[in-house]
Amino acid sequence: MIRDNLKNINRSIEYYAQQRKEFTFPVKLLAVSKTKPVEAIQQAFVAGQQAFGENYVQEAIEKIQFFEAKNIYLEWHFIGPLQSNKTKLIAEYFTWVESIDCIKIAKRLNEQRPKNKTPLNVLIQINISHEASKSGVSPSELTQLATEICQLPQLRLRGLMAIPEINTENNEEHRSFEKMYQLYQNLVEQFPNEQIDTLSMGMSQDMQAAILAGSTQVRIGTALFGSRNR
Ligand SMILES: *Cc1c(COP(=O)(O)O)cnc(C)c1O
Repeated sequence: MIRDNLKNINRSIEYYAQQRKEFTFPVKLLAVSKTKPVEAIQQAFVAGQQAFGENYVQEAIEKIQFFEAKNIYLEWHFIGPLQSNKTKLIAEYFTWVESIDCIKIAKRLNEQRPKNKTPLNVLIQINISHEASKSGVSPSELTQLATEICQLPQLRLRGLMAIPEINTENNEEHRSFEKMYQLYQNLVEQFPNEQIDTLSMGMSQDMQAAILAGSTQVRIGTALFGSRNR
């Protein structure tokens, strides 16, 4: 089941990526495994998937420890809301954090990232649909935050993440994706000495539009692992 889903998703990603004229880079799949058991992750891993996204710290650590005990080192991305009291565990266990939206949290992650590990890869989350309930910085705050993050030696700024409002009128969402691509391009130009190569946007519902607009990484949960109860 998961194996077949993975194959189909990878095929779709490749198909949409080939349809775009302007972009030549490949699109990476992040398997969002929140609320799913280690057995599901194991199936995806055996079928070739390496990168997994988690939203809840405690749940994620248990899974990470389960695999590390078997000497299986997966690429774990934290994609959920960040709380100050959880940053230590995130800095120790994850390779990527995609939901940075304030300098205070970034500084904590920088201080708490173990010195014997490579810098933590981070994405700045943008609140592109201006939703009051969503986390993320507004586009006008981006340059300031990016500049400050680039001063932190144990963090490596890799790009941007967004969760645009799912809109039944596809155009509105499409505009959000296009705005994100513009912000991402600006960031690449503003910080030529940084390794900025990741624009994380697109989920099960809107993967196609995101890829066509220039996404470099889609975050897929439901289409891979089935629906969630919470
Ligand atoms: C849950 C989640 C996803 C996956 O969403 P699906 O619709 O299940 O593909 C992607 N990104 C973030 C930030 C999430 O919280």
